[in-house]
Amino acid sequence: MIPRFRPIFSRAEAAASLRIGKPDDVSRFERAFAQEMEQDDAVAFPYGRTALMFLLEALGISGKEIICPAYTCVVVAHAITLSGNTPVFIDSGPDCNMDLDAAEARISAKTGAIIPTSIFGHPVDLDRLDALRLRWPDLPIIQDCAHSFAAQWRGRSVQTVGTAAIFGLNASKLVNSIFGGMVTTDDLELAESLRRLRDSKLVPAPWSKSLHRFLYVWALYVAFTPLIVGLVHRLTSLGLLDAFTKYYDEDKIDMPSDYLVQMSPIEGRVGAIQIKRQKEFIDARRRYAKAYRDGLSDLPGLAFPQVPKGTSFSHIVALVHDRERVISEAARHGVQLGWVLEYCIPLMAAYRHCVGDWPVAQAYAQHIINLPVSGRFNEGAANKVIRVMRNVLEKSEPPRQERERVGWS
Ligand SMILES: *Cc1c(COP(=O)(O)O)cnc(C)c1O
Repeated sequence: MIPRFRPIFSRAEAAASLRIGKPDDVSRFERAFAQEMEQDDAVAFPYGRTALMFLLEALGISGKEIICPAYTCVVVAHAITLSGNTPVFIDSGPDCNMDLDAAEARISAKTGAIIPTSIFGHPVDLDRLDALRLRWPDLPIIQDCAHSFAAQWRGRSVQTVGTAAIFGLNASKLVNSIFGGMVTTDDLELAESLRRLRDSKLVPAPWSKSLHRFLYVWALYVAFTPLIVGLVHRLTSLGLLDAFTKYYDEDKIDMPSDYLVQMSPIEGRVGAIQIKRQKEFIDARRRYAKAYRDGLSDLPGLAFPQVPKGTSFSHIVALVHDRERVISEAARHGVQLGWVLEYCIPLMAAYRHCVGDWPVAQAYAQHIINLPVSGRFNEGAANKVIRVMRNVLEKSEPPRQERERVGWS
C-alpha cells in the first residue's frame, strides 16, 4: 500500500540515532535550524504546542485574545487556552488559510497576538499581512510554520515576517526530529528570555526519553516499509493504533504527559540532519504535486486549489464530494489517502462555547483529501496513485457545491 505520508529515515538519520549523545546535540540542531530558516536564533522544545505556550509567555501575553484560524491543528487552540489566553477563531479563505480581512476586523484592545498559518504549505499572503502590520505595528505576529517550513510568498519566506515563527517537528511533518518543536526569531532578546524560561520550567530529558524516541523512530521505519504499511493501515482503521496516532480528544483541552520534558539529544541529532535536507524534501513534494495535477486535473470528480509558486506542499490537497467513499475505495486499491484536517476547531466539543460561523473551514474539514506524499519522489508510486484515483473518481459526483462554498469557482 502507498502510505499517505512517509517520513524519510535514511542511513544518515539511522547512524545519528545510534550515536552516543553529546550535551550540545540540541543546541547544534537549533543553530542549524536558524541557519536554514535565515533567522538569527532558534529555540527547541519537546512539541510545537509547548513552543507556542512558552512563546506567548515570553512575550508577556496572558488574559488576551489570540486570533487564529478555525481550520488549523487543534493543538494550537489548546496551547493558547492553556497559556491563559482565549482563541478567537477566524474562517478560512480560498487559499485554505485564515481570511486576513476577517482576522483584521477582529483586532481590538483585547487582542494579544495573531497567528497567521500557512496551512498545507500554502504560504500566507505576505502583501496582505504587510498592510495589516502597518495599521497595527505593535501587535505581535506569530507565524505558524508547522506545515509551511520555508514556503515563500513572492520570493519572501513566511517564517521571516513577524515577531517569531513556530514549527512542529513530529514524524508527520515535512522535516522531523522524531518529535519536537521550534521557535525561530530575529529578536535575540526574545530568544534569550525564551531559552531562560524554557530551562527554568522544563525538566531535562531522562535517558528513558531517549530510549523511547530511539525505539519509536525504528518502529516507524518498519511501519512504513511497503510490506507493513497495509497492515498498519488496517489496524489504524480499526482504531487499534489510536494510542500512537490519535493526537487529540474531541472533548478535552489537554497536553501530552511529557510536554514539559526537554527535547532529547537523539531528537536533536536526527533533526540536525533532517533540516539540512529540507530543500530536497520540498523539491520532492513539488514533483508529486505537479505529477498529480498533470495526471488528475481534467477529472470533474476532484478540484485542486490554486496555489502560489512558493507552496511547499506539506500536504497535497484536493476537494471531493464524497470523501468517505473516495478514501475507502482508494484504500481497497492500495492507496492510502489522508483527511487532514478533519475538523473545524470551534465546532469540536471542547470548543463548543465559541460562537460564530465558519462555513468555509467547515467545508474544508468535510471535503478535503490529501494525496500521498513523501520527501523522496517515486515516479512509480505517483503513477499508481494517479491510476487508482482516475478509477475511483470516475464514479464521483463533481464537488460543485463544495467549490462554491470555499470560493474556488
Ligand atoms: C503539527 C502542528 C503544530 C505543532 O504540533 P506539535 O504536535 O505540538 O508539535 C502546530 N500547528 C500546526 C498547523 C500543526 O500542523
